[in-house]
Amino acid sequence: MRPDFHLRLAADLAAREAAGLYRRLRIAQATRPGRIAIDGRELIDFGSNDYLGLAQHPRLIESLVGAATSGVGARASHLLGGHRAEHQALEHALADWLGYPRALVFSTGYMAAIGTLAALLGRHDLCVQDRLNHACLLDGARLAGARLQRYAHADVAAAARLLAAYPERRALMVTDSVFSMDGDCAPLAALAQLAARENAWLMVDEAHGLGVLGPQGRGACAAAGLGSEQVPILMGTFGKALGGFGAVIAGSETLIESLINGARSFVYTTALPPALARAMCVAVELARSADPLRVYVMDLIARFRAGVDASGLRMLASDTPIQAVIAGGAQAAVAWGARLAEQGFFCPAVRPPTVPEGSARLRISLTAAHSHEDVDRLLYALTRLERP
Ligand SMILES: *Cc1c(COP(=O)(O)O)cnc(C)c1O
Repeated sequence: MRPDFHLRLAADLAAREAAGLYRRLRIAQATRPGRIAIDGRELIDFGSNDYLGLAQHPRLIESLVGAATSGVGARASHLLGGHRAEHQALEHALADWLGYPRALVFSTGYMAAIGTLAALLGRHDLCVQDRLNHACLLDGARLAGARLQRYAHADVAAAARLLAAYPERRALMVTDSVFSMDGDCAPLAALAQLAARENAWLMVDEAHGLGVLGPQGRGACAAAGLGSEQVPILMGTFGKALGGFGAVIAGSETLIESLINGARSFVYTTALPPALARAMCVAVELARSADPLRVYVMDLIARFRAGVDASGLRMLASDTPIQAVIAGGAQAAVAWGARLAEQGFFCPAVRPPTVPEGSARLRISLTAAHSHEDVDRLLYALTRLERP
């Protein structure tokens, strides 16, 4: 008899539950900046990617609500009547901010990544990626059917060996700028040198760098002195430090025109709501001029790291708002998260397969919405956790 899907799904879920890997949705509510209510109880929010606290910025809310009075949906895809002046204005603002010839807005970072990679790469092309890259980058290369080769995290020499093994293939190197679960930065300058030497292209996903790092918050590439010449494909997302939703690919005229014509996740989907595009223009403006907030967040990071260092807890090296405190086993990480929640802190536990086996952790993110006192209270609670 033909096997049945329901039985397989139920067995998979039971196995997940037994391994402490079951994921459950909980209702979250953004109460005030830096706080989150989970199932109705307010906690200090150390789980958000809203690094500059823009998601609740009065000017951003005002711009979205104001722009929405003329309608909500874009009513069509970009190529069939959905591309509005608001989208174009946002693309111009992004290109200007990032210092690229052109920019193209996508509905999400996930879609920007898979659309771009699948449009660019063919079956005979080589795609070399960091092992810890975000899922959307790996999925994009797989969707393209390209020869995907992954190197050990941040190991430029290993990347060089992979490229050297296929000298006759067109090659794209892809990396996160700030790794989303570890918080460390890719060795961008060395990767750019390697790309130049190998005549390969470099694509950098700045989801966690944009708005946070570099001059005017232009990201980790800008901080490393790299521009459109060294990084022909720059990806950014609006759901993190920009406090909104959506994503961008910045690149040359030729690249962007190719994506408009060939990126299926751009062509075959409804355009972003125009009011949201308008609000994201305001977010770009706010992020660009947010140097004082960036300085403040860097100060929180130093304060937090000094505190954890003193406690003897295991922490990954990171100079960014993403701070990983390692528990090891999945169950231990979940127990820590639950203990902290009891004490008023939301610190999500991240488990395999999102992170490698044995490195389950609390992923703590520090934002401009936190006070020094918030951080000090968290440190006090962390130091008193039961060690596995
Ligand atoms: C969040 C994230 C994405 C996906 O962006 P969305 O707009 O949320 O789809 C892509 N890459 C990295 C590194 C991310 O952290």
